[in-house]
Amino acid sequence: GRSIHQIQSGQVIVDLNSVAKELVENALDAGATAIEVRFKNNGLDSIEVQDNGSGIAPEDFDHLALKHYTSKLSSYDDLGSLHTFGFRGEALSSLCALSRFHIITARAADGPKGTKLEFDPSGKLRGTSVVAAKQGTTVVVESLFYNLPVRRKELERTIKREYKKVLNLLHAYACISVGVKFTVSNQIPKGKKTVVFATQSNPNIRENIANVYGAKTLQALIPLDLHFEMNPSKRPGSTQSAPNRSTPADEASRGVRIVGYISRPVHGEGRQNPDRQMFFVNTRPCTLPQVAKAFNEVYKSFNIAQSPFICADIKLDTNAYDVNVSPDKRTILLHDQSALLESLKSEL
Ligand code: ADP
Ligand code: MG
Repeated sequence: GRSIHQIQSGQVIVDLNSVAKELVENALDAGATAIEVRFKNNGLDSIEVQDNGSGIAPEDFDHLALKHYTSKLSSYDDLGSLHTFGFRGEALSSLCALSRFHIITARAADGPKGTKLEFDPSGKLRGTSVVAAKQGTTVVVESLFYNLPVRRKELERTIKREYKKVLNLLHAYACISVGVKFTVSNQIPKGKKTVVFATQSNPNIRENIANVYGAKTLQALIPLDLHFEMNPSKRPGSTQSAPNRSTPADEASRGVRIVGYISRPVHGEGRQNPDRQMFFVNTRPCTLPQVAKAFNEVYKSFNIAQSPFICADIKLDTNAYDVNVSPDKRTILLHDQSALLESLKSEL
């Protein structure tokens, strides 16, 4: 029978997208300045993420992939001031249960040698061996869902769409990660490896966008820089406190800044292209369908081509949202979403 572990691991690794997301975030958390994502057969055969970050310390090898092991959170109080993407220690453990998985890691002190780590499906370290490696970590995920036939079939059936989705997600990480060189490649069976897109180690988002989407797209963009106070609105729980007296925390959470790039408004026909709309909250990529809708509606109401390119980083007080609502942390709960949307529309 299937172990509880394999079933519960559906939480954080649900598809190809979540694999890429977790591995790229781990690379960024490790302080990488170069990240290479290699797909084979659109990810169906394998996904590898190589970084030049800190590497993994030998004393962590044993428990690295055990459920809930994380080196990033020393106490629950840290959650509020969290500056890493990861904090649950679930990704590697899930990947052990859901794929053929191994890691190669080397630290600066190790010279040209690194260690290959292999794990049991439970996340227990099965064995190590010495291999040639540069500083950093390579995580290899082969045959995702090989042991869950229904999910594997589903992945095979939807792989083209999944792969496209994953590229959009990687576009977002590549655009927002200033100073990090991204290279994404794919190798189709019996074909040669092709670079899908690459960024240089750019000092700003603008140049990242040029690398990812091309200079022509960039020419059609204008900088986005909005500052506003959110319009006061009813929010859950606020009835208990005196309505006219806001606490300092309330004040802080009302100031919003949105920076990035959007398409220059052009009159005429056009189609909405959600593939070119990226949202971030304090540089964390996330899906914000309501915010996307607000932008699209404004463009539409002015009869402007309805395909705005959007790269928008919403700078908010950390009290104003919660990333801890879904296992993949891609769904962010904005406590004052309706106030934000109203203010955003009038600002736009
Ligand atoms: P989390 O990111 O929530 O800590 P993960 O399961 O993603 O949990 O990773 C577990 C641990 O493995 C991390 O806390 C970190 O110590 C280590 N780790 C994972 N990926 C890398 C990497 N690319 N470079 C260095 N350490 C890593
Ligand atoms: Mg992680």
